[in-house]
Amino acid sequence: MDIVDKDKRSLIMSRIRGTDTAPEKTVRSILHRLGFRYRLHVKDLPGKPDIVMRKYTTAIFVHGCFWHQHKDCIDGALPKSNTAFWKGKLNGNVERDLKNLALLRNGGWKVCVVWECELKDRGRLTQKLKDLFRAKLSTS
Ligand SMILES: [Zn+2]
Repeated sequence: MDIVDKDKRSLIMSRIRGTDTAPEKTVRSILHRLGFRYRLHVKDLPGKPDIVMRKYTTAIFVHGCFWHQHKDCIDGALPKSNTAFWKGKLNGNVERDLKNLALLRNGGWKVCVVWECELKDRGRLTQKLKDLFRAKLSTS
């Protein structure tokens, strides 16, 4: 089984179809390689986190920079035309995200947001995910 080739292929496919599942798959494959087990799109949690590891009470969201308005990110920039419309629409997403993150954290969950632009540097992203669990890895 070659995960890298599969990833590459789905990345290409997603470009063609315009879906946003490829970033999620990349994060999943990194977690898989690190030896983590997870569940996907858990509906009974606020915001339906993309990846959930109950054992670590950790929820991961994989967010598109534009739709979730990644701050100070070039991919999160608003379009030059119809700016007011987009601002209203995207602010709604941002508010919902903040609300869901707060609900999760109040419920004792550790929450991690992986931004789509972070997928450009797989090594760095792997480190970010490792850091997320470092304390737990060293004690187990
Ligand atoms: Zn970004």
